[in-house]
Amino acid sequence: MNELDLMTKIVSLCKRRGFVFQSSEIYGGLKSAYDYGPLGVELKRNIAAAWWRSMVYERDDIVGIDASIIMHPKVWETSGHVAGFSDPLVDCLNCKERFRGDKAPRAEVGSEVVFHEGGKSSGKKLKGHVGACGYVCPVCSSPNLSDERQFNGMFRTTLGPVDPLAEFFKEIKEKNLDEREMRAKYEECLKRSLVYLRPETAQAMFVQFLNVQQTTSMKVPFGIAQQGKSFRNEIVVEHFIFRSCEFEQMEMEFFIEPGTQDQWLKYWTDERMAWYKKYANSGESFRLRQHDKTELAHYSDDCYDVEYLYPWGWGELEGIASRTDYDLKRHGAATGSKLSYFDQNKADPETGKPGWRYVPYVIEPAAGLTRTVLAMLLDAYCEEKSVDANGQEKVRVLLKLHPALAPIKAAVLPLVKKDGQPEKAEAIAKELRRAGLNVACDDAQSIGKRYAKHDEVGTPYCITVDTQTLEDQTVTLRDRDTAQQERLTIPAAVAKVVEACRHP
Ligand code: ATP
Repeated sequence: MNELDLMTKIVSLCKRRGFVFQSSEIYGGLKSAYDYGPLGVELKRNIAAAWWRSMVYERDDIVGIDASIIMHPKVWETSGHVAGFSDPLVDCLNCKERFRGDKAPRAEVGSEVVFHEGGKSSGKKLKGHVGACGYVCPVCSSPNLSDERQFNGMFRTTLGPVDPLAEFFKEIKEKNLDEREMRAKYEECLKRSLVYLRPETAQAMFVQFLNVQQTTSMKVPFGIAQQGKSFRNEIVVEHFIFRSCEFEQMEMEFFIEPGTQDQWLKYWTDERMAWYKKYANSGESFRLRQHDKTELAHYSDDCYDVEYLYPWGWGELEGIASRTDYDLKRHGAATGSKLSYFDQNKADPETGKPGWRYVPYVIEPAAGLTRTVLAMLLDAYCEEKSVDANGQEKVRVLLKLHPALAPIKAAVLPLVKKDGQPEKAEAIAKELRRAGLNVACDDAQSIGKRYAKHDEVGTPYCITVDTQTLEDQTVTLRDRDTAQQERLTIPAAVAKVVEACRHP
């Protein structure tokens, strides 16, 4: 299968079957936001639940929080986001594309490139030389580009019943200000009510460190986990839900003793890779990549990315960073709060006296929930070709999602819509629902079409009710991956589905 074809097929399947829709589609849609449909919301929630299970429920050293999206604006000044959460914005002077300089295709400085005038293949062929930036336009390959301007990715809004524009007009009335002065005045008026939509969930875990530690009496090493929406005004939104402006993250801050960061970073990279492989269909498309020293953020002493092999190449799925004591120290200094930990069982390494107070170091596994939805869909997508009795080639499309992630765990299908079969199917579905599973009872279309539909949305089992069911209380249980059917008693079929849908 052509790799980019795969992306087209996934996007089409997502819309056709109700996984993901364009936001506000009937109004023409928004390119940067998506809505999760009846199956998409189940897949997303199942992935989130699998992460929460492994981070919080299966351990006693991590607790969760659910913080607000709007935080005190000073949080973002202290964290460095106001000054530094920027991407280099570049305009192509040939085709007018706007893009991120750091993600543009690299080209040797001074080398000659050929491109089409206006970016259209019908345009005149032109030649140019790559400038000092060392990249070309990602759309038309032109080296004729604007300088980079730093564009801050945080969404800004105002809090409370205020109108910063009215205040601004009042302030500048009858003052003869130039553009720079007016801009400064506007920022000053805005600042009185300015708040940001959080661009990551992580900061709340630092800001609430003391409250969480004191209310739970957690002892270092311990972690705080959170899932939720984040917002980034991305210069380029791309590849469907891979990069959007509104998305969801699953982040965990693990607070550790200074000096133990190498061992904990190794621990968390191993844990996170194992988590993805446990749920993946083919673990081969996941890898770890250590950051080059030049890639590291100034506060980080080491970092790895969990990468997935997307149809366009390897790309980030999760970042696992060793963040030193940067965040707690910064928030502590800005607020005067004692964001530190006292270990009464350890001697202070400097004085040798019993009891050690220190600012914990942090390891942060930061994953994208919505990006993991895409990775899991890509990883699960399969096409099986076969030839039918008439010699025609058939293609069976199936999503080999792990049963614990699958939106529908089982479809209960009466063979015909009469003879008590629909009622029997309902009774079996009720039993599965009582066990906590999301199941479908489906009597529309031929049985073959119903199997095909459920293969395509990743339903691991189909339970078929037929004439024999009413006679001897047995059903056929069809396995999505093998398409094999076996005859089982109803309790045995129910037990098999329940067992298969357990988290690994
Ligand atoms: P990228 O290099 O792809 O922009 P990042 O390094 O800025 O990602 P982080 O700040 O480390 O990303 O965020 C952690 C995770 O959140 C990412 O690994 C990704 O899965 C997810 N994420 C970040 N930005 C977006 C976005 N715009 N849309 C969807 N998911 C995102």
